[in-house]
Amino acid sequence: MRDQIIQLVYLAASILFILGLKSLTKPDTARRGMQYAALGMVFAVGGTLLHHDIIDYRFLALGLVVGTVIGWPLGTRVPMTAMPQRIAISHMFGALAATLVGIAEYRHQAGLHLERPVMAALGFEVLFGALTITGSFMAFGKLQELIPGRPITWPGQNLLNLALFAGAVGAFGYLIYDPTQEWAFYAMVGIALLVGVMMVIPIGGADMPVVVSLLNSYAGLAASATGFAIGNNVLIICGALDGASGFLLSLLMSKAMNRSFSNVLFGAFGSAPAASAAAGAGGVMKGIEPDDAAALLAYARNVIVVPGYGLAVAQAQQVVRELAEQVERRGGEVRYAIHPVAGRMPGHMNVLLAEANVAYEKIQDLEEINAAFAEADVALVVGANDVVNPAARSDKASPIFGMPILNADQAKKVLVLKRGKGAGFSGIENQLFFADNTSVLFGDAKSTLTRVVTEMKALG
Ligand code: NDP
Repeated sequence: MRDQIIQLVYLAASILFILGLKSLTKPDTARRGMQYAALGMVFAVGGTLLHHDIIDYRFLALGLVVGTVIGWPLGTRVPMTAMPQRIAISHMFGALAATLVGIAEYRHQAGLHLERPVMAALGFEVLFGALTITGSFMAFGKLQELIPGRPITWPGQNLLNLALFAGAVGAFGYLIYDPTQEWAFYAMVGIALLVGVMMVIPIGGADMPVVVSLLNSYAGLAASATGFAIGNNVLIICGALDGASGFLLSLLMSKAMNRSFSNVLFGAFGSAPAASAAAGAGGVMKGIEPDDAAALLAYARNVIVVPGYGLAVAQAQQVVRELAEQVERRGGEVRYAIHPVAGRMPGHMNVLLAEANVAYEKIQDLEEINAAFAEADVALVVGANDVVNPAARSDKASPIFGMPILNADQAKKVLVLKRGKGAGFSGIENQLFFADNTSVLFGDAKSTLTRVVTEMKALG
C-alpha cells in the first residue's frame, strides 16, 4: 500500500514538473511554472520520505535545516545579474548529490553480485555527475571572477582532454565488463573530476552560460541514471526532462549567437583581441544631456526600447516603464525589442520587464520587430551593446559576424544609455555608438533615465 502511495505521489510530482516546464515557455505563465515545479519538488521529496528503507530521520532533518539555511538566502538575496553563477553552483550541488548516491550505491552493492545493467546506470551517473561537479564549480569561479574568465589554452589541449575523457569512458566500459573492479570505479571518478576542470579551462567567461546549461543537462542525465540504478521513477523522469531541456537550451543559445556548439566548447572565444572590429570602430561618441533627450522622446511617435545587460546591472526596468508611460501619455507608441541573448541568460530581459509590469504584448522578439526599426523615431538602447552591433552584419573578421542583431541603427534617431566607453560581452567596439544618428546619454542607466523622466514630466 505504501509503495502504491509513493508511486502516485511521484506521478503527481512528474506531472507538475512537466506543467512547470510548459508554463516556463511564456513570460505571463513563467511565475506559475516555477510554482508548479516547486510544488512538484515538495511531492518528490515527500514521496521519498515515505520510503520504507528510511529507518532514521535524524540525518534527513539535519539536511533539511542545512538546505534551508543555504537555499533561502540563495533564492532571496542573490541579484538577477548573478543568476548564471548561482545556477552553476546549484548544478554543482545537484551533481554532487547524484555522484554521492552513485558511490554509496556502488559501495553498498559491490559486495553483492552487481548486475551489468545496474553497473552501466551507476557508472554513467557517477561519470557524468563527477565531471559536472568540477565543471560547474569552474563555471561558477569564472562567472564570479574568482578565477580568470578568459580562455586558458595551450597546444594539444583538445587532444589531452579527449584522451582523458577516453580514459574515463574506458574505465567505465571495463566496469560494465567486470563490476567488481573497484580500482576502475575510483579511477573513473578521479578522471571524470579532472575532465570537468579541463573541459571548462579553455572556455571564456562569456560562453559560460552555454556551458552551465550543458552541464545542467549532464546533471539531469546523471540524475536519470541514478533513478535507473536505484529504481526511482521520479528521478528517471525529472532527470530526463532536465537533461533534454538543458541540452536544447545550450543548442538554442549557441544558435542565437551564431556559433556552432563545437566552437563554444573548443573555440576559446575571446582569447585574442578582436583586432578588426576594434579597429573598424572609431570617432567620437556624441553626448546628449537628459533635458534634450527628454524633449526628443516627448515628441517621438514611435519608440523602440532595446534592453541589454546594462539594464540588468542598473536595475533600470521600472524607470524604463515610467519613461514609456510618459511617451504614451503624449500619444506615442513604445515597444520593447528582445534579442534572444540580450543580458546574461535566456529570458533575462523578459523577466526584468515582467517584473516592472510591462505589458507582454509590447515585448517583441527579434524576428517580430526588426523590420519596424526603419519606421521608429527613436531606438532607445538601454545598456545593450553586442546585440545592436552592426559589425555582426558586415565585418567578416568580427567574432560576432553572422549573429542576428537588432536593427537599432536603422531608426531615425538612436539614444544609447551607457556609463562610458565600456565594451560589450564580446569585448569589441560598436560602430553604432559613433554613428551620425546616435547620441549617448552617459551614466548609470537607472539614474540617468530617472533624470530624463523628471525632465519629461517638467515639460508638462
Ligand atoms: P553587452 O554585454 O554586450 O553590453 C552591455 C553594455 O551595458 C555595455 O556596453 C556597458 O557599457 C553597458 N552597461 C553596463 N552597466 C551599465 C549601467 N549600470 N548603466 C548603463 N549601461 C551599462 O550586453 P548585450 O545585452 O547587448 O549582449 C549580451 C551579450 O552576452 C552577447 O554578446 C551575448 O552573446 C552574450 N551572452 C548572452 C547569453 C544569454 O543567454 N543572454 C549567454 C551567453 C552569452 P559601459 O560599461 O560603458 O556602461
